[in-house]
Amino acid sequence: MRPVLASLPSYVPGRTVPGSIKLASNETAYGPLPHVLDRITEAAADANRYPDTNSSQLLQALAAKFGIGIEHLVAGCGSVSLCQQLVQATAGQDDEVIFGWRSFEAYPIITAISGARAVQVPLRDQAYDLPAMAAAVTDRTRLIFVCNPNNPTGTAVSGVGLTEFLDEVPSDVLVVLDEAYREFVTDEKVQDGTGLLERYSNIIVLRTFSKAYGLAGLRIGYGLAADPAVALAVRQTQVPFAVTHVAQAAAQASLEPEAERQLADRVAEVVAERSRVTGALRAAGYQVPDSEANFVWLADGPAEAGAVDAVAFGAGCEQRGVIVRVFAGSGVRITIGTAAENDTFLAAAAELRG
Ligand SMILES: *Cc1c(COP(=O)(O)O)cnc(C)c1O
Repeated sequence: MRPVLASLPSYVPGRTVPGSIKLASNETAYGPLPHVLDRITEAAADANRYPDTNSSQLLQALAAKFGIGIEHLVAGCGSVSLCQQLVQATAGQDDEVIFGWRSFEAYPIITAISGARAVQVPLRDQAYDLPAMAAAVTDRTRLIFVCNPNNPTGTAVSGVGLTEFLDEVPSDVLVVLDEAYREFVTDEKVQDGTGLLERYSNIIVLRTFSKAYGLAGLRIGYGLAADPAVALAVRQTQVPFAVTHVAQAAAQASLEPEAERQLADRVAEVVAERSRVTGALRAAGYQVPDSEANFVWLADGPAEAGAVDAVAFGAGCEQRGVIVRVFAGSGVRITIGTAAENDTFLAAAAELRG
């Protein structure tokens, strides 16, 4: 095996404990919409055939949704696969990939496997520190991830901060705006990356059907590249037929107007619950950063500062039937579930604070 493998942390997925409430993986609490499930069933009947490797029909639907040419669009086996393809396409031995830390668990793993060096810029007040990231750019920098909102802290950078950053980054460095949680953003100061595609030729915006669209198990995400050359590079680095026919059909069905309306209602429920959970945690004495995603974050630290012992807090929640995502020594991420699930979590959190 290549020596780099010995240095890799394995990706730790959110735990599943039968009979417990799972608030560990930022999934939606509800299954696919009924009409999406029908399309999945129909598509499954063609499973003897290979899928369209370019996801053409889905990309047509996305082109219409965003008002952009199809040559700017790519689909992938989850947007995490697109992250990996982009690093493979841009960064090799001795190159550098910059991202904030703590952030999405997959970034350091993907970077190490490519042979590049990960430059992890510490968060500031639990949020991406874009000026520090711009200052970290060198002539070896090939790609920068901006996770907005950030997983696992839920914080988002402002549109002003983002454009100031993009103005500073050299135009031959690819900036990946990972917007896996974009649909949950309510703060108007947070810029939708798709609105910047005409202004910056070196960006690609990544979105996914795994979170707001509730299709995490089918593995499908997409990217909008400002420069068609970036979209081409993603297609070149794709494993052939990586996006299944069933996933393409489900994604397409999810973009139909009626489906979008129903999914928007679900997102609105999550957003309302996010404020309720945040408010209740703060009232119980916890320090909670404002989240623009479908989860909230409790940092590890002294109880007097409203922080938690992440490992002990996670174990305490599990004893009370709730699985949350623990990052030892760093914090705990709690996905927003149904109102009843959130109540169970809040009762556990209140007891653990007492
Ligand atoms: C969940 C997530 C993704 C991607 O999810 P896929 O299921 O691979 O589409 C990408 N980025 C971040 C930050 C995420 O949290």
